[in-house]
Amino acid sequence: MNVPADDITGAPAELSVAEVRTAFQAWLHAKASELGEFRNLSTDVDEIFKSLSRLQRLLYSEGWIRLGWPEEVGGLGGPLVLRAVISEELAAAGYPPPFSFGTQEVLGPAVARFATPELAAEVLPRLLRGDETWCQGFSEPGAGSDLAALRLRAVDDGDTWRLSGEKIWTSWAQYADRCVILARTGSLESAHKGITAMLLDMDTPGIEVRPLRSMNGDDEFCSLYFEDVVVPKSRTLGEAGEGWAVAMFVLSCERGAAAWQRQAWMRWRLGSLAADASDLPPHTAGEALELIHILRLMSRRTVRSLSAGEQVGAVSSFDKLMMSTAEKFLFDTVLSAIPETLLLTDNESARDWRSDYFYSRASSIYGGAAEIQRNIIAERVLGMPKD
Ligand SMILES: Cc1cc2nc3c(=O)[nH]c(=O)nc-3n(C[C@H](O)[C@H](O)[C@H](O)COP(=O)(O)OP(=O)(O)OC[C@H]3O[C@@H](n4cnc5c(N)ncnc54)[C@H](O)[C@@H]3O)c2cc1C
Repeated sequence: MNVPADDITGAPAELSVAEVRTAFQAWLHAKASELGEFRNLSTDVDEIFKSLSRLQRLLYSEGWIRLGWPEEVGGLGGPLVLRAVISEELAAAGYPPPFSFGTQEVLGPAVARFATPELAAEVLPRLLRGDETWCQGFSEPGAGSDLAALRLRAVDDGDTWRLSGEKIWTSWAQYADRCVILARTGSLESAHKGITAMLLDMDTPGIEVRPLRSMNGDDEFCSLYFEDVVVPKSRTLGEAGEGWAVAMFVLSCERGAAAWQRQAWMRWRLGSLAADASDLPPHTAGEALELIHILRLMSRRTVRSLSAGEQVGAVSSFDKLMMSTAEKFLFDTVLSAIPETLLLTDNESARDWRSDYFYSRASSIYGGAAEIQRNIIAERVLGMPKD
C-alpha cells in the first residue's frame, strides 16, 4: 500500500518545509543502497542500538537532524516543524528513527529551555550527534499516574543535591549517559509544588541500574536505585521546586513528537501488512488508515502549536488517546490478518510483528494511561466535575 504523505505547512517562508521534504526524499533515494542496513535491523537490541547510532551520526553529519534546532545547541536553525518532516520521511521510506530520536524530541527541548545556556550548549550537541543517549526518570513504584506523589529525595547540600530513592520503568536506562530526573525537594505533602528537575550523569557513583524484561522480550525497562548520588546544582533544570513545569513541558513534547513519529511509523507498518497479508480485508485496512490519519491530523495541530511556541495544554490528551486507539486497532488487524505469522512462525519478520504487537498493548499505558487522558479531557476540556 502506498500511502501519500501530504505536507505539513506553517513553517516560515525562509525555510520551506516542502523544499526540505523534497531534498531529504532525494537524499534518501540517492543513498538507498548505502542505507540498506538500516532498513533491515537485527532483532538483537545491542546491535539495534549500534546501528541506529551510526544512522544518527550519518544524518547529523549531513545536517538533516540538525534542522529545526537552534544553532547554540548544535542545530542549523529553522522551525521545529522541520524535525517532524525528517522523522516522517524516514518512516515513510522504511527507516526506523535513530536511536535517540525519541528522547531527543522528548527530553532535548526541555534541556534547551530549562538548563543553563552553558549546560544546554555542552550536552545537546552530543545528543543530536548520537554520541550519547538519555533516559527519562519520572515514574516510581507508587508514582506513575499520580506522578506528583513521587518520593525520590534530593537533599540540599549547598552546591549539590544528594539523591536517594528509586525509579522504575525507565526505558533504556542501561544504555543512557544522562537522565532527566524528577526528585522531591519539598515535603511529601507539597505534592507537585515540591519537585525539582535535574540532568544527571548516569555514571555518577551510587546509581544501580537493573533491567526488567518486558513482554515483547526486550529488556527495555529498568529499575534505578539511588544512594547518596551527588548532582551539582548547576544541573538543575529550571528553578528548584519548579520541576512540575519541566515535567509538563516534557509531556507536551512527548505528545507532539512521539505521536507524530508514531503515526508515520504506523502508516509504514500498515503498508508492510498490506504486502505480507494476501487477503487483508479492505474495510479493516481502511479503518486502520482512517484512525492513523485522524491521529496525523491531531498530531499535526500539536506539532504546529509547539513549533509556534504555544502551550499545547489538555487538548493534547486527545492525541495520546488517539495514538493508542490507532495503534491497538492496527495490531489487532495484524493479528487477525496474519495469525500464523504472529503465533507460529520463527523468522525475523515474524519476530518484528510479534514484538510490535506486544508493544502496541503498552500504548495505552506509557506517557500517561488512557484512563488518565479521559479524566483530563473530562475535567479540563469538558469542564466536568472531578467526582
Ligand atoms: C513501554 C513503557 C515505557 C515507559 N517508559 C518510561 C520511562 O522511560 N520513564 C518513566 O518515567 N516512565 C516510563 N513508563 C512508565 C509510565 O509512565 C507509567 O507506566 C504510567 O504513567 C502509568 O503508571 P503506573 O504504571 O504506575 O500505573 P498506575 O498509575 O498504577 O495505574 C494502573 C491503572 O490504574 C489506572 N488509574 C490510575 N489512576 C487512576 C485514576 N485517577 N482514574 C482512573 N484510572 C486510574 C491507570 O489508568 C492504569 O490503568 C513507561 C511505561 C511503559 C508501558
